[in-house]
Amino acid sequence: MTTMTRPDQKAAAPAPAPATSNHIFREVGLPEDPNNLYSQTVGSMLHGAEVMGLPHYLRLILAQPKNEIMVHFPVKMDDGSFRLFKGYRVQHNNALGPYKGGLRFHHDVHLDDVKSLAFLMTMKCSLVGVPYGGGKGGIKVDPRKHSATEMERIVRRFTTAIAHQIGPDYDIPAPDVGSNSQHMAWIADTYTFLSEIGGSNPTATVTGKPIEYGGSLGREKATGQGVVDTLCEMLPELKLEPKQCTFSVLGFGNVGSWSGKIFQDKGAKLVTVGDHTGFIKNDKGIDAHDLAVYVNKPKSEGGTGGIAGYPKAEKITKEEFYKHKVEVFIPAALEQMIQEPEAEMLNCKVVAEGANAPTTPAGERVLQRRGIEVLPAILCNAGGVTVSYFEWVQNKTFKSWDLERVDGELKKHMIAAAGRTRDARRKYKCDLRTAAYIGALERLQKAYEVRGIFP
Ligand code: NAD
Repeated sequence: MTTMTRPDQKAAAPAPAPATSNHIFREVGLPEDPNNLYSQTVGSMLHGAEVMGLPHYLRLILAQPKNEIMVHFPVKMDDGSFRLFKGYRVQHNNALGPYKGGLRFHHDVHLDDVKSLAFLMTMKCSLVGVPYGGGKGGIKVDPRKHSATEMERIVRRFTTAIAHQIGPDYDIPAPDVGSNSQHMAWIADTYTFLSEIGGSNPTATVTGKPIEYGGSLGREKATGQGVVDTLCEMLPELKLEPKQCTFSVLGFGNVGSWSGKIFQDKGAKLVTVGDHTGFIKNDKGIDAHDLAVYVNKPKSEGGTGGIAGYPKAEKITKEEFYKHKVEVFIPAALEQMIQEPEAEMLNCKVVAEGANAPTTPAGERVLQRRGIEVLPAILCNAGGVTVSYFEWVQNKTFKSWDLERVDGELKKHMIAAAGRTRDARRKYKCDLRTAAYIGALERLQKAYEVRGIFP
């Protein structure tokens, strides 16, 4: 098993997995590695299972994915040479509906990352009340190092390799880190080509497509929109409202930039930003709309591929970034970025998890000790999959919704998910992450109770 420690981070001191998860890990044959992302995410769920008294057989089922698919496929490069690529699709659970989850295109993606993200999708879809299970996939590739024509061949060949394992009623991929709507369009077209005798609308086998090819209005900003919907719902409990908040964003890609733009439009002030190219600050405020334009500038026009060199803010160090006083900190980059050292440095009241699993259990214990509230990822970033569900419904019914309807329906789902989380916190007197898992597990438990285990 791989341990996900980012190159810019020291490994955190081992944090023991909750004692209650140890026997389940042993029963399903999972190594008890406290720094392993999969052990960490499943361990947090098993803690929720213990608190609510989830039956043992459900803990076993949910501790491992149903299917782990790994493919290798050759692709011709622009210079005529061939390269072999590795791709993944993990289907964690489909008790509530088809497997659903994004595709990560990253040079450092491993099976364990994909398993963790697939597991989180099962929990997220259950909590937010959409009729999906959880899946995730990826290709070990750095999309920035390939031309558009090479990426098209890589994506189409990967789609062909997993075509028998996906489908509009079985497993529905979407974008994640490193993948975008153009990639989804190539997947939809390839799948349609391969399944011409198939269902009524094969493009529904993938969401996050461009608007011109079956995408939904509001999908691109949906995860950021959901982060801000969750903040607006939960901040009053901390006697805060957006207009009183300064905030910080780590990662300024899809989730980070949209969270930044939408939270700013609600009156909050963005003061520090970090990404893989560096860290910046402006106490008078960084205009998230302007920064997003800068980040997307092509290299040929002076773009740096990130926030580095942004002229309307000053460069700061990583330590200065984490220590800067803000009300809200939004991690929207990769997993395990808030370990103990970062948690000790953070100077905020709320961490709103835009990224998946950005906080390690050891980091979270530090945040709890320091009285910092964490809005957990399976609640906070569920907006993306919710609007993906709306896209799928529109594809299946051959209808288009206007943006007002998409945003309104999304808000209803986010408020309901926040309500389920708050109810569980009240009932079990636990932290918000445990409460969110309990909210998700309650729905899964009811489904398993009525459907039973075949045969
Ligand atoms: P993205 O590729 O658009 O952006 C990723 C960002 O992370 C970039 O700004 C990059 O600079 C930054 N980053 C990468 N490595 C970093 C490092 N070492 N230090 C600091 N910053 C770093 O990806 P995204 O779609 O915005 O996804 C971000 C997170 O949100 C991921 O955890 C993803 O799984 C999660 N998420 C995404 C969606 C979605 O709809 N896109 C939905 C739910 C959850």
